[in-house]
Amino acid sequence: MQRYFIPPGQLTASEAVVTGDDAHHIANVMRARIGDSIIVSDGASREVRATIAELGKGRIVAAVAEELPMTAEPGMRVTIAQSLPKGDKMETIIQKGTEIGAVRFIPFLSERTVVQYDAKKETKRLERWHKIAKEAAEQAHRNRVPEVEPPQTWKQLLQSVREADAAFFCYEKEAGTMLKRKLRSAIEARGGANGMNVLLIVGPEGGFSEREAQEAEAAGCVPVLLGARILRTETAGLVGLTCLLYEAGEMGG
Ligand code: SAH
Repeated sequence: MQRYFIPPGQLTASEAVVTGDDAHHIANVMRARIGDSIIVSDGASREVRATIAELGKGRIVAAVAEELPMTAEPGMRVTIAQSLPKGDKMETIIQKGTEIGAVRFIPFLSERTVVQYDAKKETKRLERWHKIAKEAAEQAHRNRVPEVEPPQTWKQLLQSVREADAAFFCYEKEAGTMLKRKLRSAIEARGGANGMNVLLIVGPEGGFSEREAQEAEAAGCVPVLLGARILRTETAGLVGLTCLLYEAGEMGG
């Protein structure tokens, strides 16, 4: 059954109103008819099965038929902090990271970030990233759409380390400190992975500088190795995320 995220104000006790691109999708792509069922989520606290009652142009009204349990969200809340990669790699990271189960993405700028950052284009790009997260969340049957933050500076990112229960700094030069061991002790110290906020920091194509590695550690990050192979920047976050969620028992483990 097709699912759609709608703004919370459009989901009442008895009806769900779908507008915009999603209304177009229901009417013209899915060619839905009155009486067909869809799943609608407000992305926050409710998800329902609803039957289509009105098929208007750009506005579809569906009657709430059943409240559904929200069980698709992982207990461990992983944020991928990703040094802005080249081209459209950030889109791939958001799309795949959403499927796997990340709850938030923070792009950031680091010393060796190769892309030219254009603040003027930021609003458009952020909108596109949000759209990708929403569509991937719908496709993956998530209950919530992951957040995508506007790009931060390295300094700003290091400030958010304090808010996390554990912050892992992916550093291919950190021989000997494997993610698994560090994660296990962090989970143990917290008494479980449920509700744990984890920050996973991934460097750019050219890697982190030694100074950044020192600053990250000083800010409270734990440097970790993701294995003996060097992963591309767009692979590292997805691999790290999968390892974290596997260890938390969220990947069918
Ligand atoms: N230093 C290399 C590669 C950078 S890989 C170079 O100069 O080409 C890009 C990013 O992916 C790194 O900054 C790191 O955060 C992450 N990464 C890749 N492979 C990794 C590994 N085996 N362990 C930990 N992090 C890794």
